[in-house]
Amino acid sequence: MAKIITIAIPKGGVGKTTTAVNLAASFAVLEKRVLLIDTDPFGACSMSLGFTPEKTKGGLYEVFNFIHSMAQVIHRTELAFLDFIPTNVTSQQAEERIMRLSENRTLLKNILRTIAPHYDYVIIDTPPFLRGLTTNALTCSDSVLIPIKSGHFSLEGIEKLFKYFDWIQEVANKSLQIEGILQTMYEPHTKVTEITDRELQLRFRKYLLKTIIPKNTHLTEASFYGKPAVLFNASSKGTLAYLDLARELVERHQTAQPPIVLPSNIQLA
Ligand code: ATP
Ligand code: MG
Repeated sequence: MAKIITIAIPKGGVGKTTTAVNLAASFAVLEKRVLLIDTDPFGACSMSLGFTPEKTKGGLYEVFNFIHSMAQVIHRTELAFLDFIPTNVTSQQAEERIMRLSENRTLLKNILRTIAPHYDYVIIDTPPFLRGLTTNALTCSDSVLIPIKSGHFSLEGIEKLFKYFDWIQEVANKSLQIEGILQTMYEPHTKVTEITDRELQLRFRKYLLKTIIPKNTHLTEASFYGKPAVLFNASSKGTLAYLDLARELVERHQTAQPPIVLPSNIQLA
């Protein structure tokens, strides 16, 4: 069964999408079969992977509305081991409808059941708020990875997420775990970074991941050109940091549980 990891924090612009896309791509480079799901109606994962509306053949919106099956909305990517499902919301009306439908917090969990066993990892990107689609993602996940950017408001975001995490564990998903806190867009030797580092060590030390993602313009450029960083500049600091993160997590998961033999990839419609 796939390990399902949601990337979430109720704070915008901290590197959720960049982490979801590049962690998923890095797992794929390590030859793990990965499904990346974008639950943010804004659709930034699609843009980061080069899926323009013309190249998109439906997404969660169609699945939630019984128009397509999950298998029908899986998009192959340039990386052999990476598949992708967008949300594919193209109008305000559609966004309102998917928000309404996602009030049923077990929707994503139910539809993932059939396809998750065909992957080693499912990575879910979320919008910068917790209700609706993010709640769906947390309900079906094994763990949540929390990206944070130096600065006070990110720490508030962690507090908020931890409170929500307790609630999700109590009412919807008692086996949900914290995968870790990931420092992104890291700029050493600044006052804000220094203060954030101190606070993180004091309040969240046991959750901090070893890997730190540096501030690196290649990551932004790669998403602008619709590519995961590893296909844009394989040796940039950003690319290498996300590969380190994937290795850190694979190592952890391998020691935590015995490897499972999974069936070969699913046949798509
Ligand atoms: P939102 O909540 O709006 O969905 P987000 O948390 O998904 O935002 P991203 O879109 O991943 O955040 O990142 C915000 C901006 O920061 C983007 O322009 C992205 O290219 C840039 N960025 C992300 N990570 C890095 C990094 N390590 N170095 C430099 N720029 C980065
Ligand atoms: Mg995003």
